[in-house]
Amino acid sequence: MTYDKNNIFAKILRAEIPCEKIYEDEFVLSFYDINPQKKIHVLVIPKGEFTDLDDFSNNANPDEITGLIKGINIVANKLGISTKNGKGYRVLSNISEHGGQEVPHLHFHLFGGEKVGKMVE
Ligand code: 5GP
Repeated sequence: MTYDKNNIFAKILRAEIPCEKIYEDEFVLSFYDINPQKKIHVLVIPKGEFTDLDDFSNNANPDEITGLIKGINIVANKLGISTKNGKGYRVLSNISEHGGQEVPHLHFHLFGGEKVGKMVE
């Protein structure tokens, strides 16, 4: 799938629409999900133009891959939900149609602040 430069997260990255930012560095942006499913529900997205995890795995460079994985941990630490300073959390990425992906820019959901519950409905 070609990357749609007008998807909602691309617009957030360009600051064309606002977000409630948690963290930002060279590789990632993290912000609160607009429709939280758990007590804490945030998103971590890469700054590069990747539609999903398959695209990212195939096309991101090693620094981008490291930056995204480390970014998730930095955000979890900031929110107090990591194993370092909290009780843990769940990371989830929906991929394409069967995964139920709605926004076609790679993103990881982080759920926490309470027991997250059943893995799949
Ligand atoms: P997906 O189903 O693609 O994995 O998840 C997309 C997520 O993006 C949903 O949880 C949805 O609530 C969130 N979302 C959609 N539009 C916006 C927005 O404009 N701002 C924020 N912060 N989150 C959004």
